[in-house]
Amino acid sequence: MELRSEDVFAEGVAILRKEKIASATTAARLLLCFVLGTKDFRAHTVSPADAERFRTLIVQHKAGCPVSKLIGSRAFWDQTFYVNENVLDPRPDSETLIEAVLQAIPENTTSSQILDLGTGSGCLLGTLLVHRPYMRGIGVDCSLQALFVAQKNAVRLGTANRTHFICSNWTAALAQKHNFEVIISNPPYISRRDIPALPKSVLYDPLIALDGGEDGLACYREIASSIMPLLCHKGQLFLEVGQGQQRAVKKIFNILRYAQSYKDLSGRVRVLQFIKE
Ligand code: GLN
Repeated sequence: MELRSEDVFAEGVAILRKEKIASATTAARLLLCFVLGTKDFRAHTVSPADAERFRTLIVQHKAGCPVSKLIGSRAFWDQTFYVNENVLDPRPDSETLIEAVLQAIPENTTSSQILDLGTGSGCLLGTLLVHRPYMRGIGVDCSLQALFVAQKNAVRLGTANRTHFICSNWTAALAQKHNFEVIISNPPYISRRDIPALPKSVLYDPLIALDGGEDGLACYREIASSIMPLLCHKGQLFLEVGQGQQRAVKKIFNILRYAQSYKDLSGRVRVLQFIKE
């Protein structure tokens, strides 16, 4: 017997609320829409089999699995990205980097290339290329599994013909000299000793995308050691940083001129901008 979608939805919300899950209604809505393959579940009835699938997802979310990992996608800026266990989930915090680059690079910019180091799902590079239709981009990641996801996202966004992906440990596989006008990175920056204490949901992200070494700064040092020949004169570097890392990262990149910082929605410095002079 078909069930009323409102009832199935309300039951899911109640289970999540009981567990004090934040955004219980949004989570239940996304999960039910996913099960029914629709954007608006209210227009549908639910078969017993789909109601069971929905309950299973609700229980998995209750146990800590992020909705994005359950439904295989996540919204970021004004786009939706495929995600899986091989990529860091796109975070609202990282939208700060999009804001910073879009502010710095005029819309009709031509013939310039963006390099994205540690592209993961490709959410940063993809979003920027959607909004800067005359630019091209290179996305680098050491994980081939992540690059499969990034490539799928580039196709989804319609940016694949302007994007090139390279499997490389940071800049190792790139030609020594380049003329990038924009380089971006959201590298792994969690200090190793903080990893066990991360919220449960973060542990569904690949460790390799989080682990910033003993002090969380290892990847910044690695990037700094090879960035100079890759940036053109007046080229700009935008880096996402973790909480409290601003000063240390500025110091690591003292080979460039520090331009400014950008705060995320909770008022924390999240992105640093540098210029090569
Ligand atoms: N933003 C992620 C977090 O704080 C970390 C991502 C990263 O290391 N770049 O959970």
